[in-house]
Amino acid sequence: MTQDEQEDEQFYRDTESIAFPKLNDHQLSLLEPLAERRVMKRSDVLFKAGQRDLGLAIVLRGEIEAFETRDGTEYNLANARERDFMGDVSMLQGTSILGSSRVTSEEAEILHIPAAKLRRALAEIPAVSKTIVDALIMRRRRLRRDREFAGMRVLASRDERDGHQLDDFLEKNRIPHRLVEFESEQGQALSERFHLTTRDLPVLITPAGARLRKPSLREVAREAGLLRSLAEENETEILSDLTIVGAGPAGLAAAVYAASEGLKTVVVESYAPGGQAGSSSLIENFFGFPTGVSGGDLTWLAQLQAYRFGARFSTPAQALSLNYNADGEYRVCLETEGCSAILRAKALLIATGADYRRLDAEGREQFEGMGVYYAATAFEGQLCRGATVVVAGSGNSAGQASMFLSEGAAKVLLVVRSKNLKMSEYLSRRVQARENIEILYRTEIRKMSGGKKLEQIELENTETGERRLVQTPAVFSMIGARPCTEWLPPEIERDDKGFIKTGLLVAGAPAWKENKRQPGPLETSLPNIFAAGDVRSGSVKRCAAAVGEGGMAVAGVQEALAASANRT
Ligand SMILES: Cc1cc2nc3c(=O)[nH]c(=O)nc-3n(C[C@H](O)[C@H](O)[C@H](O)COP(=O)(O)OP(=O)(O)OC[C@H]3O[C@@H](n4cnc5c(N)ncnc54)[C@H](O)[C@@H]3O)c2cc1C
Repeated sequence: MTQDEQEDEQFYRDTESIAFPKLNDHQLSLLEPLAERRVMKRSDVLFKAGQRDLGLAIVLRGEIEAFETRDGTEYNLANARERDFMGDVSMLQGTSILGSSRVTSEEAEILHIPAAKLRRALAEIPAVSKTIVDALIMRRRRLRRDREFAGMRVLASRDERDGHQLDDFLEKNRIPHRLVEFESEQGQALSERFHLTTRDLPVLITPAGARLRKPSLREVAREAGLLRSLAEENETEILSDLTIVGAGPAGLAAAVYAASEGLKTVVVESYAPGGQAGSSSLIENFFGFPTGVSGGDLTWLAQLQAYRFGARFSTPAQALSLNYNADGEYRVCLETEGCSAILRAKALLIATGADYRRLDAEGREQFEGMGVYYAATAFEGQLCRGATVVVAGSGNSAGQASMFLSEGAAKVLLVVRSKNLKMSEYLSRRVQARENIEILYRTEIRKMSGGKKLEQIELENTETGERRLVQTPAVFSMIGARPCTEWLPPEIERDDKGFIKTGLLVAGAPAWKENKRQPGPLETSLPNIFAAGDVRSGSVKRCAAAVGEGGMAVAGVQEALAASANRT
């Protein structure tokens, strides 16, 4: 047995009791009133791969199994007997189930709890929610580690961008899947079996056996059950107390607090919940995690928490435009991509973050958070003490980062694409005078390499074409950030870089002049519209700060809603 296989075995043994707990009499008595009893016969189907919004099945008598069907063969995933329950995280999220389930004993007696009642029970009955939610999360962890389980499969050519984009989209949305290279033995077998050629690539093969050739992200999201119609049939408007645009740490934190406080909460996210934090492999400075936490794990758990409290999500759903009605109860009208209904909300939170411009260097993606950083604080300074570090950029943030890092690093290489610095005069003088800062003009980073962490980069002088290798544990990318605010109307005031102004900065805005109250600290120039996280002018570009602002914004929303209610 290989070392990896031994570690897997140990992991499965250690987590067995969390993933597959037996419900006790007390828990059964709490759940029974929500459920309907069903007596089923051998081979009766409980659910099929691809179905959505499924409830939980608790076995009272007999046995049921879950299995995956792959290319005509069935693979057992789990068996459930008396007091066990059959369920998966997709039941919390309302996404498509990845396996199927049927009765394997002569007869089985099942308690079936419908999805909506299950979600309510998980929010309101702590005596059952901990056992069930912990089990569902652990089952998903085990499934993601399982080398045999396939889930969704993306068949794509090795160097094809579209295939890798589908892979990234499913990964960031935490949908278990495999990327199968067309050129591999397995890829060739799959393409022969389903008569697929390179012209069809990429292809999404679903657990239910459907094959989607060259699917768009929206089609993939629909198959995975991520893209839910927020509107009921024939509904032209979706009403909410709070609509949150953007599900990074700020939006997710707001969703958790708002939904837990009973606000009808809708979240629209244009790519994948988690935002920038979702792409950080290890956040080492988030309080409460002494050895760091994966940004993907942290934000996924926050998302499940928000689901548990009843927040409704739609992904991918990009907010396209916003209309404001100062007098109505539902002040905000939001138009989103692909949704024919209008979202109308009493309050809105803009938590769309910022897009950090990424360095166009080979291998860069692999070292995000493991050598490629977007901020230079004491924390990052510690990581590269005594080493040669690289700062890319020519503006003030690059200058400040270089000055700061030069205090602890042996040497700072400031890599500038053009032939001069674009920072304030005083800063540029300091940078040039600092002995251990070397400025490399007309230079670009071409390649990054290393093991788990960054070790080396390749630089090119674009004037002479000369290339050189530099050993370094850290590249600080300071080439600018663009706030995601282009969809907003001009009445929402922004600073000169496009970040949204809030609080005292907007107290003089026309909409506040006639208002009895002052804007809350996170309220924008339009009453009842809030901004939190990286998108806000003056915000600290940190995960914990975004989470704090998300929670704080909800307190402001409550005050604004109370003031609006008193007015009517
Ligand atoms: C690689 C990396 C590593 C990092 N590491 C750390 C770290 O170790 N510690 C730390 O404290 N911070 C770290 N940060 C910074 C931290 O992740 C951010 O400060 C934080 O994510 C900001 O949260 P946010 O919710 O404000 O915005 P974001 O995380 O940017 O989320 C915004 C969300 O809004 C969505 N969106 C944008 N426009 C629209 C629209 N029109 N409609 C719908 N949705 C939209 C986006 O898709 C995105 O999901 C890191 C950042 C990166 C990129």
